[in-house]
Amino acid sequence: MRYISTRGESPAQTFSQILLGGLAPDGGLYMPESYPRFSDAELSAMRGMNYRELAYKVLSRFIDDIPAQDLLDIVNKTYTAKIFGYACDGQSAEDITPTFKLKDNLYLLSLSNGPTLAFKDMAMQLLGNLFEYLLAKTGQQINILGATSGDTGSAAEYAMRGKKGIRVFMLSPYQKMSRFQTAQMFSLRDPNIFNIAVKGVFDDAQDIVKAVSNDHEFKARYKIGAVNSINWGRVAAQVVYYFKGYFAVTKSNSEKVSFAVPSGNFGNVCAGHVARMMGLPIDKLVVATNENDVLDEFFRTGIYRPRDAANTFQTSSPSMDISKASNFERFVFDLVGRDAAKMRELWGKVDAGGEFDLKAEGYFDKVAGYGFVSGSSSHADRLQTIRQLHKDYGVVVDTHTADGLKVAEEYLEPGVNMLALETALPAKFEDTIVEALGQRPGRPAALHRLEELPQRFAVMEPDVDAVKRFIVDHC
Ligand SMILES: *Cc1c(COP(=O)(O)O)cnc(C)c1O
Repeated sequence: MRYISTRGESPAQTFSQILLGGLAPDGGLYMPESYPRFSDAELSAMRGMNYRELAYKVLSRFIDDIPAQDLLDIVNKTYTAKIFGYACDGQSAEDITPTFKLKDNLYLLSLSNGPTLAFKDMAMQLLGNLFEYLLAKTGQQINILGATSGDTGSAAEYAMRGKKGIRVFMLSPYQKMSRFQTAQMFSLRDPNIFNIAVKGVFDDAQDIVKAVSNDHEFKARYKIGAVNSINWGRVAAQVVYYFKGYFAVTKSNSEKVSFAVPSGNFGNVCAGHVARMMGLPIDKLVVATNENDVLDEFFRTGIYRPRDAANTFQTSSPSMDISKASNFERFVFDLVGRDAAKMRELWGKVDAGGEFDLKAEGYFDKVAGYGFVSGSSSHADRLQTIRQLHKDYGVVVDTHTADGLKVAEEYLEPGVNMLALETALPAKFEDTIVEALGQRPGRPAALHRLEELPQRFAVMEPDVDAVKRFIVDHC
């Protein structure tokens, strides 16, 4: 399997070659040159597989330059009940991504039972093991530099902690994450994890990461790498749970299933698109946004109009407060028939701060054929959904999952099961749960006193040189 850039001006690469990098040199995103497809007979054989078996079956189609036994070992070491049953009762821990029926046709697909209680663990834990394996093979080291507003940073740190050859330097806005998220990251004591709290907002932290990455000499010399959401390995790992969820709620491959996905960077739902292209019988992919509704606007009108930071709202589902959906480029690549020249034209406009209109360009009629529909949700909708679920089913969902469920309801239809993806546990976003229900959500026993643990972090002005010095001093 070779990987090509959406902008068509970078050489094709293997999986191992693209895993440790970020964007392709031409500024595009890597995509498999064609989608592997599963036949009906293969799908039937996959129906009885457990999570690890399914993960190997799917991932081995994308990763063909790691020896089969090594990949199998990596997958088996990653998707265990010990790591992904962290927040489960004992019974469903082995399922890794258990399904819960809410009512006829509506299910929750639970993706947040990993160490940081958010779905990003599903891919990041695999990445940690793949990185360590590839670095050991080539005798290399990497320094991962990132900026986070919460979920990405903690998932990356818990995946990379203690891994040989890897250091993580994670920037976050000082005193701007939730108490739980702060404690989760800053209580890590592993010598290869460095938390840097920047006196500013998330964009200040993000700008520093961009500035350091644009210093090509520094980047090469200190082996600076990233684990952001455009990493193809993350998308590939997320494809697996669409298969697992599908088999959990169907009896035969003639049944179709829809998925509702709380979306920000379009990474999660992009994996659903890939699963569909691989032959999984998906009916609808429901893209749910919060008040930052760039994606909803596109799927309603055909106009993609990213916003700048000043027009990005801070909401109570903060991990979806995104104004530019980086993985969206992957879907548009397929939508325009993989026409790289067209992609350069469209993203030329986006990169210059502009927008594009695919209805005017004649591509929008094709969107329905890919199953995409969309909707958005407000703070009031989230509170209402959280209350309603608690009342009707005794279930407490987090704010992002609530956005997905609100929009899922708009697309329910008889005879088609809908799986709403649960992307975080409510414990991560306690304040809004208290606002909705007047009570705190539960959390795994091991995390009861999380906020009381000693914390280790550096505080810095938003200063690129200071961050570079910190990296140099700790290498
Ligand atoms: C990251 C995140 C999302 C958004 O996922 P994308 O892949 O960026 O669309 C939704 N919910 C939670 C809890 C997240 O952490």
